[in-house]
Amino acid sequence: MYPRSLQALIDAFRRLPGVGAKTAERYALSVSELDPRELEEFAAAFLNVKEKLHRCRICGNLSDEEECSICKDPARSHRQIFVVQSAKDILAMEKTGEYQGTYHVLNGLISSSKGVMPEDLNIESLLKRAKDCEEVILATSATMDGETTALYLDRLLKKECPGILVTRIAHGIPAGGMLDYADEITLSHALSDRKKM
Ligand SMILES: [Zn+2]
Repeated sequence: MYPRSLQALIDAFRRLPGVGAKTAERYALSVSELDPRELEEFAAAFLNVKEKLHRCRICGNLSDEEECSICKDPARSHRQIFVVQSAKDILAMEKTGEYQGTYHVLNGLISSSKGVMPEDLNIESLLKRAKDCEEVILATSATMDGETTALYLDRLLKKECPGILVTRIAHGIPAGGMLDYADEITLSHALSDRKKM
């Protein structure tokens, strides 16, 4: 039995994805050994992330500012939009260094089993942005919900923004795989081998 305060900290860490009992225990013990100043910095980082972190008002990416660094970068192509289901996927794609356009975060996927409808997602702002661009690259995962969402967006974009090029990334990514788990080489290929929808 752990002292109650330590157990509470272990339980808190266990709520994080990928943290099992052993890891949570190690984290909690390490935190208990921090000196007060370190602990203060640690706690402040936790609180700050919630207070400072916003969604970029253009693309939905995570940012400390109203607009994210990618949307504000004039060197990037603003006529190309890479559509992902979550902000994590942007981090994965940026690591490849292969993509020079902008992004759009849907904040989920259309899912009949989970009851997620198109209006629950960040789609309206995508349509507005797509009207001024050349290509929309659909990069939702190769799962059933990911494919459903890509097909829905393809139809919608072709109807609302005629003349726009809609492509789908190639899925050398393991079936059912999430974008953020794919390695950088696989992701680069997924981009360069994208197909017209
Ligand atoms: Zn942005």
